[in-house]
Amino acid sequence: MAANHSLTGGAFLFHNTDPKQVFIPEEFTEEQKMILHTVNDFMQKEVHGLGLARIASLDAEKDKDLVLEIFHKAAALGLCGVSIDEQYGGLGLDFNTGLLFTEGLAGGFSFATTIGCQTSIGSLPIAWYGTEEQKKKYLPKIASGEHGCSYCLTEPGAGSDANSGKTRAVLNEEGTHYILNGQKMWITNGGFAEVFTVFAKIDNDEKLSAFIVEKSFGGIELGKEEKKMGIKASSTVMVFFNNVKVPKENLLGERGKGFNMALNILNSGRVKIAAGGVGGMKFGVQKTVEYANTRIQFNKSIGEFGAIKQKIGTIAAQTFAIESGVYRTGANVDRKHAALLSSGSSANDAKINSMREYAIECAILKVLGSEAMCNTADEAIQIFGGMGYSQETGVEMAYRDARITKIYEGTNEINRMLSLGEFYKRMFVTKEIKMADAKSFVPKAILQNYLPTSSRFLADEFERVNNLKALFMLLTGVAGAKLREKLVDEQEIVMNLADILAMAYITESAFLRVLKLKAKGDTPADELHIKVRMAQVYLYDALDIARKATSNALDSFSAGAQKYFIKKIAGRMLRTYNINPKDTRREVADYMLKKGGYFA
Ligand SMILES: Cc1cc2nc3c(=O)[nH]c(=O)nc-3n(C[C@H](O)[C@H](O)[C@H](O)COP(=O)(O)OP(=O)(O)OC[C@H]3O[C@@H](n4cnc5c(N)ncnc54)[C@H](O)[C@@H]3O)c2cc1C
Repeated sequence: MAANHSLTGGAFLFHNTDPKQVFIPEEFTEEQKMILHTVNDFMQKEVHGLGLARIASLDAEKDKDLVLEIFHKAAALGLCGVSIDEQYGGLGLDFNTGLLFTEGLAGGFSFATTIGCQTSIGSLPIAWYGTEEQKKKYLPKIASGEHGCSYCLTEPGAGSDANSGKTRAVLNEEGTHYILNGQKMWITNGGFAEVFTVFAKIDNDEKLSAFIVEKSFGGIELGKEEKKMGIKASSTVMVFFNNVKVPKENLLGERGKGFNMALNILNSGRVKIAAGGVGGMKFGVQKTVEYANTRIQFNKSIGEFGAIKQKIGTIAAQTFAIESGVYRTGANVDRKHAALLSSGSSANDAKINSMREYAIECAILKVLGSEAMCNTADEAIQIFGGMGYSQETGVEMAYRDARITKIYEGTNEINRMLSLGEFYKRMFVTKEIKMADAKSFVPKAILQNYLPTSSRFLADEFERVNNLKALFMLLTGVAGAKLREKLVDEQEIVMNLADILAMAYITESAFLRVLKLKAKGDTPADELHIKVRMAQVYLYDALDIARKATSNALDSFSAGAQKYFIKKIAGRMLRTYNINPKDTRREVADYMLKKGGYFA
């Protein structure tokens, strides 16, 4: 078998990935699906199945008692311990199963944020960076839900620029405790958390460190619950630290390494946002399809109208593509984790480094997952018409809830910049992505456009995916050579390049999935056909995005003969994709309308 470049984050750009080396969601085992069923059943029993009155109570801002009641029931089922190893009282799920769990949370509407925080940014700092003593002390109570937990990075003056925080920790004279002072903002689960991971600078350090802080230490004051646009079934407060005495042994990880830690925890949170988005999008497809099948106007169900089919076809295709990218990435994290363990890494290092490896992919998924989720919620409202705007159907709530995903865990602007920044870092600084691979891949991909395309199944599509990769590299190389260090200030161009990079990864993930399904041969023909169609719809739209991004970038930084020449090549690489977008979207929509929702 060929070398598995999937074990290297970002290396997808310069290789033809073997579908055998890609995990697809259809390969989840019965045991893994049980996790999804457990979460779905729980959310059905406690939230969604109890109807709109229940959902509306959760959405009410009066108090968080109901949220906590459901939280404790979820904890009793073990749902707070999905990311925690068994020896510390958790379920010890692998990362990809954890993503499946996150997808299942969507049925809990914004209650999902509460459990999501507990099992992700709330607990992972200790689970990944804690000492044995810290893990033994804190994780069992977090896994059992006895202790709520939260992640305190953001401050009023330090949002995207998180490293500029002013919260300070000073070692006392006895050398036994850090005295912590400062203010954190937007802290999810803060209203009921007992354990806070707090990022603060020690003395006059320039870099952040991290601390495990218990409410019982005293000196912690909570602000009022924020009045938010959405995710109201989650607590969000300001947290004030007034001379909090934190035992010295509660420093988490190494002094000055807090920012790296914070970012790496966010890598995991980012792909989880996309996984939650997949759950939300599937739910959205199902709700819109049910409504489109039953709402009659002009003596027809509205699902019979092309304008509605166009929307359903598009959101279903987005769901499929993002889902393909999420679980491809999750499985790669698990494989990297196993590889690191077998090469002698410690348990913590294997977790940390397997996640860090895929920083590019996580940033891409955060951006595209959140934007697809917001688009789905928006289109759901449109399909529901006036009823979508009414509180009665719950669709407006999904729209409000979805919106935050473009802001937290790093805004989408920051994540677009990060995907490109990480690419540069891995290519030119750490050299984990090999320039030699780029030099061999890119010219071949460009040349292929001037040769006949093979008649193999999906050969045209894979050629186009490779074009996205090669085009990204071509533009990035030329922009880098021309603008050099000024490129970071030309953010509009960075956004354009990041869009092309993102489209390359997600379109490839969708087509690798259908290629693998075809090779496995056990997918019913009609289902495989629709999955191919969904990948094609996504590619069609991705090429449009890439065309726009390419002309925006080139018209911004290039001129004269260079611009003319590259536009010529790019035009060839992004040439018309010969599918009928109307018919293809209709096919997808009709399949969903007939099935009554997304695939089971
Ligand atoms: C409901 C909610 C829950 C949250 N939960 C948590 C939590 O549990 N823990 C936690 O620590 N934080 C949490 N956050 C904070 C969240 O992560 C931040 O809001 C987010 O990182 C953005 O920071 P900011 O709000 O200060 O926006 P700013 O950083 O002020 O950004 C404002 C705008 O400027 C843009 N911008 C900023 N810097 C740049 C730049 N260099 N280049 C280009 N554009 C830029 C941004 O993209 C954005 O569009 C939460 C926020 C919300 C709203």
